[in-house]
Amino acid sequence: ELYNKVLELKGNIRVFCRCRPLNSEEIAAGASLAIDFESVKDGELTVISNGAPKKTFRFDAVFGPQAEQADVFQDTAPFATSVLDGYNVCIFAYGQTGTGKTFTMEGTKEARGVNFRTLEELFHVINERQKLYRYEISVSALEVYNEQIRDLLVSGSQQSTMAKRLEIRQVGEGMHHVPGLVEAHVNNMNEVWEVLQTGSNARAVGSTNANEHSSRSDCIHCVMVKGENLLNGECTKSKLWLVDLAGSERVAKTDVLGERLKETQNINRSLSALGDVISALATKSSHIPFRNSKLTHLLQDSLGGDSKTLMFVQISPNENDLGETLCSLNFASRVR
Ligand code: ADP
Ligand code: MG
Repeated sequence: ELYNKVLELKGNIRVFCRCRPLNSEEIAAGASLAIDFESVKDGELTVISNGAPKKTFRFDAVFGPQAEQADVFQDTAPFATSVLDGYNVCIFAYGQTGTGKTFTMEGTKEARGVNFRTLEELFHVINERQKLYRYEISVSALEVYNEQIRDLLVSGSQQSTMAKRLEIRQVGEGMHHVPGLVEAHVNNMNEVWEVLQTGSNARAVGSTNANEHSSRSDCIHCVMVKGENLLNGECTKSKLWLVDLAGSERVAKTDVLGERLKETQNINRSLSALGDVISALATKSSHIPFRNSKLTHLLQDSLGGDSKTLMFVQISPNENDLGETLCSLNFASRVR
């Protein structure tokens, strides 16, 4: 309750920054820090260059290299569970490849991320509310690659024909739908885990280089919630989008040839369109350019209005990545 009031005052867009630790290769190579880890407190973070403070950024929360998945989820949970109160919610992970977008969203078996923890929390709350509400949960998993939507829950053999057919249709005032997209009904965490695994496995299929593919595509999970208030019969329908975005790094000019050029432009389209939409929403602009990319078109119903948006800006602490880090932090400051 209190949380929702705070959110109203501040608007419905929040930005959390997360900085990963230096990895063992970076430590072995004697990497210098571009982030003052001591400065990571109370939503502040200072970028350093040659050991001297360069610029301080403020966000709604900042998670340093020590932050655990559970710490991050603690601050994310109020957002995620508001889908059970009828709110549409979008949670994004933005940043350079290798900064922990997939770690934050998907996580690992030992350190599960936002996606798994969110569904776990939803089932927990549903169970607590079972005398008052009845809920139905379904999950979709899709990928946007090169401005094409692919269903990650469709089996391999059907994949190629489905990939071409998936388009976004408007089905009513402010209602968009992707006809043919698989919506898997889930009743418990075992079923959720199966769906998440299927989606995750399908991502690698059909790409020669899985890492490169994942750095160039947006991986999206949509949790659809139907709620019924058992006291007054009132029904709600809402969506929670969990988005692991394409890598935000600028591609070296030498790479930008032929197909690669088109692809690069399309990736930049998706990310810059998202930035444009969020900043238009933040400044309450009268025109919100949803149609400029598949991603923003897809999420249209869940961005703006009384929807809630949470963006994780993921960064590297390595001084070698300073340029990209500043780009990401500036991008995130722009959407806030
Ligand atoms: P991205 O999806 O942005 O390309 P990944 O999530 O794949 O990046 O992260 C790159 C590597 O760094 C992975 O091995 C991941 O486990 C590790 N990593 C990322 N963030 C953290 C963190 N906060 N703590 C520990 N390891 C992390
Ligand atoms: Mg990734």
